[in-house]
Amino acid sequence: MNYILMGPPGAGKGTQSKKIVEKFGIVHLSTGDMFREAKKSDEVISKLLASGQLVPDEIVVNMAKKRLEKDDVKKGFLLDGFPRTVNQAQELDKMLKSENMKIDAVFFIDVCFEEAVKRISGRRVCSCGASYHVDFIPPKVEGKCDGCNCELIQRNDDKENVVRDRLDVYEKQTRPLIDYYKSTGLLVNIDGLKSESEVFEDIKNAS
Ligand code: ADP
Ligand code: ADP
Ligand code: ZN
Repeated sequence: MNYILMGPPGAGKGTQSKKIVEKFGIVHLSTGDMFREAKKSDEVISKLLASGQLVPDEIVVNMAKKRLEKDDVKKGFLLDGFPRTVNQAQELDKMLKSENMKIDAVFFIDVCFEEAVKRISGRRVCSCGASYHVDFIPPKVEGKCDGCNCELIQRNDDKENVVRDRLDVYEKQTRPLIDYYKSTGLLVNIDGLKSESEVFEDIKNAS
């Protein structure tokens, strides 16, 4: 099965992605993770991420194309954070068509602005990919990853001065995608205000 996970920054996409790919045995494709890796050696990407702006469509689409050409996506994939503009979605449609692939469902995890701000502000991440929240999903030992015991850090773009800009970018550039996928009949609304496990149950029931 091929799925897309949509939702504002902080909605819980990364958290649910881990559970979904494990349950379905599919590949997790997170453009955010890819750009966080790329920014280590790319000054332009690094600046865009730090300011909360989107990476230009052409770069994102080329990166996605290369990734979707790999063999492992044949077992199914979950797109997390891509597409993020209507233009990216149209390019994705072309790509999939030429590879004889299709999307089975688009899960839209919805949270309100206030909740997104709270979740992003309290997010702490580990280099192993695990994500926690200081109040909502705390690690067993404060500041340490449950899995690998490494020090948890706050993402640069999760700092307060960037959070509102990111949510603004989401409203202007990504929200229009909801109508795009509604019109294809693929959109599934998921109430993201529920607990981590309840959200996962709802996604499973709709998949
Ligand atoms: P979040 O999980 O908070 O929604 P991501 O980790 O998905 O954020 O993305 C982090 C940053 O990476 C974005 O703010 C943006 O700069 C860049 N990025 C990720 N995916 C895309 C995309 N599809 N198009 C453009 N920029 C992207
Ligand atoms: P996204 O990838 O959409 O930006 P994350 O999965 O990183 O979002 O989650 C954002 C923050 O909210 C993290 O700190 C995470 O631990 C926390 N979180 C995720 N799901 C829930 C939930 N259902 N209830 C409360 N907090 C959550
Ligand atoms: Zn870890």
